[in-house]
Amino acid sequence: MVMPCAICASLGKSCCKGYQIYLTPGDISRISDYLKASDFYTVEPPVLTDIEPDYDPLWLPMIMSEDHQVRVLKRGADKQCYLATDRGCLLPLNRRPLICRLFPYDFKETCILGIDASCPISKDRNWQTVLDRMDMTEAKANLWRDLLYEEIRGKNDPVGSPLSCENG
Ligand code: SF4
Ligand code: SF4
Repeated sequence: MVMPCAICASLGKSCCKGYQIYLTPGDISRISDYLKASDFYTVEPPVLTDIEPDYDPLWLPMIMSEDHQVRVLKRGADKQCYLATDRGCLLPLNRRPLICRLFPYDFKETCILGIDASCPISKDRNWQTVLDRMDMTEAKANLWRDLLYEEIRGKNDPVGSPLSCENG
């Protein structure tokens, strides 16, 4: 079976292109440690059409600094991720930014919401089975989601109470 991500890559439509990938302090530490370099990220204003997840109104206030900047992976002029290569991501899965590991799951602080409509896998009625076969189970996604918010919030909580899934 050809993996959906390989099809995306062959069509030049991989989700590694186009997005601003926010990095937690933990992401920076894991990637720096692996690459033995720290020139893979930058600080820039958020681009509302590119920042992920764009469906959560609390996301941007949570990750943005007081001077309205976000810490993201560098991108090329074509918006391709700095760490993307012809053979896929330069990083092994356990070093990838948590945002990357979570895609194509849609999520909020307290739960997984479903699958992102921009991913071709979402067109498959049995998308969860497809993701399970790719070893991207919901159980794993929940661990990464927990770690993501833990690392964003650190000791200070700039936002207040966590979102509830029941609140939409
Ligand atoms: S996760 Fe979805 S959008 Fe991203 S490369 Fe794989 S199939 Fe394509
Ligand atoms: S870090 Fe890897 S998985 Fe994430 S956007 Fe870049 S190339 Fe893609």
